[in-house]
This record gives sequence, structure tokens and C-alpha cells, in this order.
Amino acid sequence: MNLALFGPPGSGKGTQANFLVQHFGIPQVSTGDLFRAEIKAQTDVGRKAQTYMDRGDLVPDSITLQLVRRRLDAPDTERGVLFDGFPRTVAQATELDKMLQVMGRRMDRVIFVQVPTDVLVDRLAGRLTCPKCGRTYHPKLAPPQLDTVCDHDGTALIMREDDRPETARKRISVYLEQTLPVLAHYRQQHVVSDIAGTGSIEEVRERILRAIGVPSAAPAGMSTGGPAAGVRLAGEGPGGGIPPSEQGGASDTETPGQRRPPGIRPSDHGRSQGAGHRRRVRGR
Ligand SMILES: [Zn+2]
Repeated sequence: MNLALFGPPGSGKGTQANFLVQHFGIPQVSTGDLFRAEIKAQTDVGRKAQTYMDRGDLVPDSITLQLVRRRLDAPDTERGVLFDGFPRTVAQATELDKMLQVMGRRMDRVIFVQVPTDVLVDRLAGRLTCPKCGRTYHPKLAPPQLDTVCDHDGTALIMREDDRPETARKRISVYLEQTLPVLAHYRQQHVVSDIAGTGSIEEVRERILRAIGVPSAAPAGMSTGGPAAGVRLAGEGPGGGIPPSEQGGASDTETPGQRRPPGIRPSDHGRSQGAGHRRRVRGR
């Protein structure tokens, strides 16, 4: 089962990624990690990537995709992978589709962990730092005894640039600008599940498992995983939003014809049956 996980900074995506990797026994494929590994091993591709990074340039898609392809050839990916932070652009997504198709695989589900921007800003911003001793505080989570000064040395606390709400908002909007088109690409394939990223880590986890179509151990009647009402991305501009037909989160998981037991890949997608035929029958 090939999964991709998307979520803005502060969405808790990393925690959920760790869980999914363990739960399904599939490796996480992050291009950042792939680059680091290749550079460390001083491979040709690694050296090429390094020259771009040294110049502060983006590594071209051709190199990124070459790395992903090599990763997907490794035996531990036979049961699938969890893509994290990739694909980053529609062009990459299109190329990944082709690559998977040639391998007799497909993107089975794309999970988008949604959290309202205001909640994200609350999670990411607001930390106060003592410029003298470096202790940090948070007005809500770990407030200093006196509003504006360090408990330890009485120095006036400051908010660092990175911790300002405006900075957090900017990071979130850059992320969404970059990511929404990629999600739109996958929405056309009806594989996107919008998951409400609010509530506890366990609640979010349950929603993700349900969207993937895997029964979990959660007691029946537990809060309905469907993306909670009112969860909307404040930062989304017109046209960037989620089509009404796809709101309600896991809904497209349950579209008749899309639903299938986990691990069984549909064979009627007109995909090439060539190289990957072997893999197809293996399931999880
Ligand atoms: Zn201090």
C-alpha cells in the first residue's frame, strides 16, 4: 500500500507518519532523507544534488525522481511506502504516477491532515525567550510567574522572530500554496482523504486508519472520524479550497467502487501489468 501524508507545519504530521510506518510495516520515503543518505555515501547522484544545494538552488526533479526510483527498487518497499514531503509539485506527482505505473503500483491513498490556521498558529507561535539565560516560556502552556519577565533572572522576555504569529502564518500559507495543487492532482484520482487534525493524537490516528480503510481496535461509536465540522483552512484562497463534494473527509474513501479491502490493489485501472505483476498479487 502506497501512502502519502501531507499536513502543514504544526499539524502533527510527523507523529502520525511515525505511527503509520510502524503500523503498516512500510518504510517512510522522504526526499530529504534520500538526499542526505546519497550525499553521505558520496554517490554520483549525491554529488550532483550537493552541487545544486551548495549553490542554494533547488535540486531538479530529474535527480529527485531518480533517487525515489532507486528507493522504490529496494526490497523493503514491496509492501508499499509512506511518502513524506513528496511529491512537492504537480510535475513530481505526475512523474511519480508514471513511475509507479511502470512498477505495477499506484498511489493508494493520500492523507491530508487539516488544521485550521488559527489553531496551527497557536501551536507554532507565541513562545517567549529570555535573552539572558535562554529559558523559554509560553503564555498559555508554560507561563512565567510574572507576565513578562524571566522567573530565573527577571530579564524582560522577548519573542523571537521565528516564534511570532506572523512568521507562523507565513510558513503555513507558503506550505498550503505549494501543497494544494499537488492535492488537487490527487483529488482527480479520488484518493485524497481530508482528515481533521484537531483533537488528540489518538483521535487523529483513528481517523487516518479509517480513511485508509483499515479496521482498528477503537471501540465502536468513538467520535466519528470524519473530519470534524467546521474544520476549514483559513488560509485558503478562492479556488484553493476543498471542493464541497470532498468535504467530510474520508468520504471519498467510501465512494462505491473505490472501497476495497486493504492491501488488495485494484487491477482494473488500466495500469501496466508488466514489471510489477509479481508484486500485485502479494498484498499485505
Ligand atoms: Zn532568564
